[in-house]
Amino acid sequence: MQITSVGIVGAGTMGNGIAQTFATAGFPVVLRDVGEAPLDRGMGNIRKSLARFVEKGKLTQEAYDSSLARITTTTELRDLTACDLVVEAIFENFDAKKAVFEELDLLLRPEAILASNTSSIDITRLAAVTKRPDRVIGMHFFNPVPLMSLVEVIRGLATSDESYTTIRDLAVQLGKTPVQVRDYPGFVSNRVLMPMINEAVFTLFEGVASAEDIDTVMKLGMNHPMGPLTLADFIGLDVCLDILNVLYDGFKDPKYRPCPLLVKMVQAGKLGRKSGEGFYTY
Ligand code: NAD
Repeated sequence: MQITSVGIVGAGTMGNGIAQTFATAGFPVVLRDVGEAPLDRGMGNIRKSLARFVEKGKLTQEAYDSSLARITTTTELRDLTACDLVVEAIFENFDAKKAVFEELDLLLRPEAILASNTSSIDITRLAAVTKRPDRVIGMHFFNPVPLMSLVEVIRGLATSDESYTTIRDLAVQLGKTPVQVRDYPGFVSNRVLMPMINEAVFTLFEGVASAEDIDTVMKLGMNHPMGPLTLADFIGLDVCLDILNVLYDGFKDPKYRPCPLLVKMVQAGKLGRKSGEGFYTY
């Protein structure tokens, strides 16, 4: 299936990055959020990000102008009616996403594809609230979207081969590297990453080494660009805890149990960079 127009629902961290990525690849984009304020913030971020590409000589001024001109914003979901693909990137809550999927399912023509950028919600469960489960898929981008090349393409139980190949080929058109992933908790990225972060927290909790030394081991010994505790602060400790709980609940396997120190830090409001304090102070 040929995708010629794209709708994005949610203009936050991920939604505005996804909108920018489609627009610079030449796709007309309709970006929807619930109010003018988040749309203005989202467009502000897109302008800043595109300007950095121009400064670095990676984008011409003409491409900057044409990319921005391809994005229209709206607070009305019905303005996405003509889109061939809608990528949902609202906050991580099943009921909120369910409402968006149900509404889009009624608005969009039957061939259109519904994708979610969720990091942890089952694609199969989201697909089941629509009458087009074969056309529902996960398109999991990474932050910051314009710079990160990976896209996990998540196949729900009912996702058709055609929907999968359409989204895989589209990701390549965006200049990304798609990987095919089955719909199981944490997909591949978080299933591998979060237990490593959790183990780093346990290592700190048990007094094996300091936070700095744990990070140094992983940076210098394993060539990771940043240590797991620095990365956890960057992601947000609340987000890490939520994802570990998704793994723990989804597999019913105690190996995913969140470290009590991580739980306590979230309870204390120490969420990492965004709260000014996590394993480090900012
Ligand atoms: P965010 O909080 O930055 O943005 C969410 C946006 O959605 C907000 O602007 C909010 O106003 C808007 N919104 C809420 N309900 C809406 C609705 N019904 N219609 C339209 N807009 C609505 O969140 P984010 O970090 O961009 O995360 C979005 C999704 O991407 C989540 O599912 C998250 O799990 C996933 N994700 C996040 C990251 C990350 O690093 N932040 C990485 C990969 C995937």
